[in-house]
Amino acid sequence: MPPESSSKIKIVTLGCAKNEVDSEEIAGVLSGAGFEVDGRSKKTGVTIINTCGFLEAAKEESIRAIKDAVREKRAGRTEKVIVAGCLAQRLGSELAELAPGADLYVGVGQMGRFDEIVRESQGAPKMDRDQKIQVSAPHHRWADVPTRARTGRPWSAYLKVSEGCDHKCTFCTIPSFRGGHQSKPLERVLEEARHLARTGAKELNLIAQDVTQYGYDLYKEFTLPRLLRELNKVDGIEWIRLLYFYPNRLTDEVIETMATCEKVLPYIDIPLQHAHPDTLRRMRRPWEGERYMKLFEKVRAAMPDCSIRTTFIVGFPGETDEEFKYMIDFMKESRLDRVGAFLFSREPGTPSHDMDGQVSMKVKQERYDKLMRTQQKISLEMNQAWIGKRLNVLVDDKQDGWFIGRSHRDAPEIDGMVFFQGEAEIGQIVPVEITKAEPYDLYGQSEGYVPKPGRRLVPLRQAGPIAPQ
Ligand code: SF4
Repeated sequence: MPPESSSKIKIVTLGCAKNEVDSEEIAGVLSGAGFEVDGRSKKTGVTIINTCGFLEAAKEESIRAIKDAVREKRAGRTEKVIVAGCLAQRLGSELAELAPGADLYVGVGQMGRFDEIVRESQGAPKMDRDQKIQVSAPHHRWADVPTRARTGRPWSAYLKVSEGCDHKCTFCTIPSFRGGHQSKPLERVLEEARHLARTGAKELNLIAQDVTQYGYDLYKEFTLPRLLRELNKVDGIEWIRLLYFYPNRLTDEVIETMATCEKVLPYIDIPLQHAHPDTLRRMRRPWEGERYMKLFEKVRAAMPDCSIRTTFIVGFPGETDEEFKYMIDFMKESRLDRVGAFLFSREPGTPSHDMDGQVSMKVKQERYDKLMRTQQKISLEMNQAWIGKRLNVLVDDKQDGWFIGRSHRDAPEIDGMVFFQGEAEIGQIVPVEITKAEPYDLYGQSEGYVPKPGRRLVPLRQAGPIAPQ
């Protein structure tokens, strides 16, 4: 048992849902080892910064967080600072130069041994120059037991099924610091799902860089259908959502399994990145618009209510006006429910960083605005098609007399919301009749609810500015 004065741990999490899961796993391992994970305490033994290193902007935010923690250390409010996660893995000793003063810099995939890591930092002398770098080739060591300390809403949980990525997209830094694809063993995923159900989860959001590759490294076959059939049997779980699909692995078998497992939501988040064959070739991504269209026809035939979301990159090197127009035409024809977009970011170490034909920021911004305007209209029409229909909604919150929830179409923190009035309880799944649509959100009333005379459905918020969803 560590000494009491040093046993309080604060974890600062930056970046995406995957990092949130890692932090929960770290917190679970530390709690199991007798530490107290407490973000509110004014004085802590150790502050852990779980960094993000995906894009330049994320890097700057992580560096600011490390510097803040080091200032806290110098002010005597924390004894040790440990830097973990993607940016530590991506930059290694360079990060210790950019943001010095932490005691340990550890790479990704170490969640299962964070009790050792914290003890190691506590054994180190309190001198900046003794900071240590522990970054090796990424190898994920899952915690032995599913002891995750949940920090989000009890009824909705992320479940990471694999780490890393085997693809070689020419703009992406992720494989360089998260490593190749490594699946969490199937039994371990099921154990974690049962643990999450016991702690109140109704919605499981399976996450992976490429969920369709699940199991190949362990079982020499794509195991997602088997995993879904097993998860479908877990008591207490009502919704299973999958994030993220890779286009050429969304096979007939996967579609059929999704369509026949009643808990698996008809929701597909499939980042395509572009639609023009030449741009995709330069990105080293599979297929092109026409084949994507055929795939979506199959998906919609098997799951008519399926909500499809994608992400595009605008301004990839060499993207001509014609290639961009092709993508816009593809969007108009495919009519996906949601589309997010990113301006191409020139990341050091990736092949696209040095490609000819870099696109100016002005053109990137103009293309981005056009893409988002195009999609806003489509998203509004797709949402309007739900007016008069019923959607099951998982209630996340209540504000000013309005329940706020999400249907099968809305992944947490990514998509829109359903605002409704009537009878419901937070954490429940309730049927809601849709009465009004905006580009991002829907409005309605829960079944059996009769609005009082003169009471109008007034939106809590207007659709936000044009921004990546
Ligand atoms: S599939 Fe995704 S994570 Fe993998 S290299 Fe491509 S963009 Fe990066």
